[in-house]
Amino acid sequence: MTGKTHLAIGTATAVCLLHPGTPMEWVIGTAAAAVGSVICDVDVSTSNSHEKLNQISALTVLAAAAVCFLEFRFHLGILRNFNRQSSWFRLLTGFLILLAICTFGKSRPHRSFMHSIPCWLLMSAVVYYMYPALMPGFSVGMLSHMAADLLNRKKVRLLYPLKWGLCFDICSSYGFVSRILTRAAGAIFTAVSLVLFLIYFLSATGRI
Ligand SMILES: [Zn+2]
Repeated sequence: MTGKTHLAIGTATAVCLLHPGTPMEWVIGTAAAAVGSVICDVDVSTSNSHEKLNQISALTVLAAAAVCFLEFRFHLGILRNFNRQSSWFRLLTGFLILLAICTFGKSRPHRSFMHSIPCWLLMSAVVYYMYPALMPGFSVGMLSHMAADLLNRKKVRLLYPLKWGLCFDICSSYGFVSRILTRAAGAIFTAVSLVLFLIYFLSATGRI
């Protein structure tokens, strides 16, 4: 699966499963799901692995910048909520721990540690420590990545360090099914988000 496919599936799954009840929850959940949905692939070890790493880093910076911009432009209450639930010390130390986990994961074979349930649990716990509100979106995004990769031909070692792996061999990364999945997930994300924002608007103006 390409990064674009994972991004579309991860964000669509997050808005469908988490039902963000406010614009603040939508922004936090979508940004966290976007990062969670691509982070597993830091373990890609091909000639373009630097490109992959750059893409993941760029998306993380972009997601953080988008959250900051939306908070300062629309005063969604993210900063107030963050100060209540966490601290800058926790955010920074947690980020350094995530970097250490990713550095270890990058040294492991593709679709092993970074695509495993132990890594998912560990990273979700670290993200919870950083800022609890980020955890549901991140966790759903990362899990959706692992689930989508199961459809490919290369085995996913879900129970790392066990050598056992699973795959259903239904589609290839650039094949027809992947393209359909990307478009369908993108459409679902847009449709659900539009409905959610309509509900936010109607409830904010007292119409429902
Ligand atoms: Zn992957």
